[in-house]
Amino acid sequence: MMPDIFQIAGCGFNLIFFTVILALAVMALISLKEGEKRAAKTGAVFFASALIILIAANLLPQQIFALLSIATFFLLVVILILFFLPIGKVQFRREVPQNRVDERDIPFSRIRLEPGTEEYKSYYEMQPGNKNKDDRMRQMPGLLSQDAKLANAIGFNTADSSFDFIEIFRTEVEHDGINGQKHPPSFDYTGAVKQVAAYYGAHSVGITELAGYHIYSHIGRGTGKYGDPVRLDHRYAVAFTVKMDHRMIRSAPKTPVVMESGKKYVEAAAIAMQLALFISKMGYSSRAHIDGNYRVIAPLAARDAGLGEIGRMGLLMTPDLGPRVRIGVVTTGMPLTTGSYKPEASVIDFCLICKKCAENCPSRAIQFGDQSETGGALRWQIDAESCFQYWNVVGTDCGRCISVCPYAHPDNFLHQLMRKAIKHSGFARRAALRLDDLFYGRKPEEFPLPDWLEPRTGLIHKSGKN
Ligand code: SF4
Ligand code: SF4
Repeated sequence: MMPDIFQIAGCGFNLIFFTVILALAVMALISLKEGEKRAAKTGAVFFASALIILIAANLLPQQIFALLSIATFFLLVVILILFFLPIGKVQFRREVPQNRVDERDIPFSRIRLEPGTEEYKSYYEMQPGNKNKDDRMRQMPGLLSQDAKLANAIGFNTADSSFDFIEIFRTEVEHDGINGQKHPPSFDYTGAVKQVAAYYGAHSVGITELAGYHIYSHIGRGTGKYGDPVRLDHRYAVAFTVKMDHRMIRSAPKTPVVMESGKKYVEAAAIAMQLALFISKMGYSSRAHIDGNYRVIAPLAARDAGLGEIGRMGLLMTPDLGPRVRIGVVTTGMPLTTGSYKPEASVIDFCLICKKCAENCPSRAIQFGDQSETGGALRWQIDAESCFQYWNVVGTDCGRCISVCPYAHPDNFLHQLMRKAIKHSGFARRAALRLDDLFYGRKPEEFPLPDWLEPRTGLIHKSGKN
């Protein structure tokens, strides 16, 4: 006997609901694995509700069940169309800053100035408006100080060791390539450089032609004479990212975030230095730009190399890890080719509606409004001084903005699917934001410290509850 239309509709309904129930169960388990308790609980509630609906629907009279099934089917089609078709496309062009940044003006350079030195005197003669606030900042406990609010003996010393480790290599960043062996012009230098960077451990790699606005105008720290104009004759910048651990970042602004920063700066420095040496051995000049010794503004070079867009929090937003990366750069005279990268408007559109980083920033350093004209380009400008002041009070590099960003979730199947939808559809971006708030909270809870960072006998643990 042939099945009638009611039976077919009923089977369709059951199939759809089984799939939904399965997806919700997987979602809850993945969230549990990620350590996201609220998301796991919400997934479990949805799972139970879908199961109840399935059972209740099967108890309805056959005709009503069939009508419900057809309506469910159409609803599903509409949702799929809204999520994966390019609805709500936004127009956006990459802005090119007109001004070069003086490295002496960034808070990292200013905090290092010691009262009574020639550098201190010359800087505050040039920028008298910064003197009082910088002097006040110098009275604060400082980054990685054991007197800071979130001090943790193991954590801070771990991070400090990473930064000291980089210091050892800070002078070994430049190579002239004179003794290297050049290859025929047909040699695929671009392919080789990208492969080697990936082999050394880069998560993503891109190349851009160096522009004036990528390069600091004057030296503010690192090698070279303080205050000298920056000279960088290289034509290309190889930019790459390294991935930061999700769990460590999710405990931000507590100690693990600065440990992870230190560790990843070491990783980025190691890759950059090896890559610079490799380029030199291939016969071309190179310079590794590493923590504390940059000549370029790494996020801008990385953006133009096609690795992401600059979001509301002023950091590089990569397609698969969002801002949960550190950036390394090697500049070189090697003949390379750049890619033809398109601006990713979906990120900017998402940042326009999201504002989660701004709401969670403890120092209110991130703007709530739209992008504005800064340095000749339309962008979000964060209040770097407020941010840095907060770091000097708590002792970590905070990172709360990174930890709450919906783009920073782990790069697994669940979030990849959502990222695909976000990229294509304006509707999906709005729906994804609501779902992110529902599953993770508008103010996501910080992860606790790993057990091994809790106080042990004989170790200092300043706050006792961080
Ligand atoms: S938290 Fe939201 S607004 Fe902030 S950078 Fe991430 S996506 Fe953009
Ligand atoms: S690091 Fe912290 S203080 Fe700085 S912008 Fe991000 S959330 Fe705000």
